[in-house]
Amino acid sequence: MIKKTILLASAVTLSIVAAAFWLHYADAQTTGTKAGAALVDAARLIAADREPGNWMSYSRTYNEQRFSPLDQINAANAGNLKLAWYYDLDTSRGQEATPLVVDGVMYVSTAWSMVKALDARTGRLLWSYDPQVPREILIKICCDAVNRGVAVWKGKVFVGTLDGRLIALDAASGKPVWSVQTFDKSKPYTITSAPRAINDRVIIGSSGSEYGVRGFISAYDSNTGRLDWRFYTVPGDPSKAFEAPILRKAAKTWHGQWWKAGGGGTVWGAIAYDPQLDFIYFGTANGVEWVQKYRSPGGGDNWFLASILAVKASTGEYAWHYQVVPGDVWDYDTTQDMVLADLTINGRARKVLMHAAKDGFFYVLDRRTGELISAKPFVPVTWAKGIDLKTGRPIENPKARYEKTGKPIDIKPAPFGGHNWQPMAFNPQTRLVYIPAQELDFAFAVDTSYKRSPVSFNIGINLDALPPPTEPAAKKAAWDRLKGYLLAWDPIQQRAAWRAPHPGPWNGGVMTTAGNLVAEGDAAGNFALYRADNGQELWSMPVQTGIVAGPMTYEVDGQQYIAVLAGWGGGYAVTGGELVKKSGNERNISRVLAFKLGGSAKLPPLPVEQAKVLNPPAQTANAATIDRGRRLYGRYCVGCHGFDAVSGGLVPDLRYSGFLASKGWFDIVLAGALKKEGMVSFGQVLNRQKADAIRSYIIQRAIDTKATGESYAGFPAAP
Ligand code: CA
Repeated sequence: MIKKTILLASAVTLSIVAAAFWLHYADAQTTGTKAGAALVDAARLIAADREPGNWMSYSRTYNEQRFSPLDQINAANAGNLKLAWYYDLDTSRGQEATPLVVDGVMYVSTAWSMVKALDARTGRLLWSYDPQVPREILIKICCDAVNRGVAVWKGKVFVGTLDGRLIALDAASGKPVWSVQTFDKSKPYTITSAPRAINDRVIIGSSGSEYGVRGFISAYDSNTGRLDWRFYTVPGDPSKAFEAPILRKAAKTWHGQWWKAGGGGTVWGAIAYDPQLDFIYFGTANGVEWVQKYRSPGGGDNWFLASILAVKASTGEYAWHYQVVPGDVWDYDTTQDMVLADLTINGRARKVLMHAAKDGFFYVLDRRTGELISAKPFVPVTWAKGIDLKTGRPIENPKARYEKTGKPIDIKPAPFGGHNWQPMAFNPQTRLVYIPAQELDFAFAVDTSYKRSPVSFNIGINLDALPPPTEPAAKKAAWDRLKGYLLAWDPIQQRAAWRAPHPGPWNGGVMTTAGNLVAEGDAAGNFALYRADNGQELWSMPVQTGIVAGPMTYEVDGQQYIAVLAGWGGGYAVTGGELVKKSGNERNISRVLAFKLGGSAKLPPLPVEQAKVLNPPAQTANAATIDRGRRLYGRYCVGCHGFDAVSGGLVPDLRYSGFLASKGWFDIVLAGALKKEGMVSFGQVLNRQKADAIRSYIIQRAIDTKATGESYAGFPAAP
């Protein structure tokens, strides 16, 4: 009887698929674009499993599983995987995008929001598009000049740019068809996330919750670029009309004048879609500021910060929300990917949404209603003891509310998260979720002299409250605590199935296949395949640069390929400072890499690098000035140049700067001499005396580094 039902269901599905295919080809004939150029539509995307050779959306399918039915490359032959081709990119910032492949053409975005179309068989460039993003936008970016991918729909390729344009390109030529500005450019918004194309709409959010903006998600008409709907994730000024009825209710969870800085809650990551329920799911960031008394004096849950939301795809109307972290003060964005699956839990068939949150808990929700089914920590967590399934609220550790206790505290996970934007994957055959997991901790304390700044972070945190340890054993302990691993997680039992360790945190996104494979690159510069069922490493190749992006797979002319963007970067790389050294390879060589069984391409030899020489000028400042410089550095510079003035590889390491001894220092810091390279003037917030104090601090860091003979301060050499 059960079998019969399944057969019947398959027959119905098949006929829908057949109809969908016919519609697709009929449509292709009427759109007037060149045949074969990204003619993706609802029928094709919803039936994506019928053409597993293509990867037509960010995570292949709307359910964001990052599972491919392809199995030509599998656990039995993975050892014979070789490089098929590579394509060198014209940027050396972090590469976070997942390429798309449609009918033999790869569409990929890179750092600085540029887009390439490549022949997926050979890597030959078909066209290239550069939106010419002004480099000074870097001052509004927390986490590198990255872009996570494009969307395709009916002959167009869509990219969101760092400066907020949503651009539709002709998929055949790469020429712009339309472009819209998605936000007020006077505010510190940016776009780094990948759009999704759903039913003739392009869905996109923004970033900026470390600076001072109001979060939203928008839907644009894919034909014209006209704004169709927008859902704000934070209520606006209550003296004006609310844009949606639910925002009236949300406003009751805020205090003070949060709308002046915008509140935060940007939508910079996950977007999933359930075509049957017609719900779009997305997550929201932390608030502006992290410290709640600065953003909402008097507290409150602050809807919809750090929340999972469902809205109607056709209208943007609110359906439900689940606030993962009420009244967040730990930068626990809930923007990590959301994976939809149908699971049997406690004997009941459930339509679930799965989310491995920055806050360290793995959440399983009923995606029809938002009801919390289960939540368990997947990494060590100290901010909460657990999640109360009755109320859905965390059982907080009272000491973690550093703002209430007035005492600095070291918390796990750090703002880098137990899991960040690097996409996870779900394999319906093993029923396991594969998470790029990590363990970091972070010292939280209120900056009592905090004032909002027109440039740099506005988080309200005193980054100096618990300075890094100086005693050797304590330094080693801090180093040893840093971990990164590929974690296979059973979402039904809520427990780990296996782990594959990496040298440190901030590794690549994940993809899984019907070939019993999991693919992941790491920060140390290796790309590897693991057995999906037990985690055994089957194959690995050094690729000269750290990988943070998620891999994908496709098939052309009967040949399966696995592709990934290589190129170290992202938030941890720019901010993490000396701790980044543990993860491995800080060299950025930005490339698209494509592998196949028996490939014969070879990477070129590594470029010869000039040895960096530390040559600091003599210190002329006193200890008090140096310390003042350290605090100012922590307020204005650390976001790009790294903790303790140690670069994570992407941005010049200031200890080695030739400008430390010259007037050029002030030309750069105060007059914006390197604006075109992204280093804007800080003249709005720093005077000559303050800029000089920062210079004295950097000189001291260089002197100390040279004296200890270590390549970097504080920590033992990376293994
Ligand atoms: Ca954040």
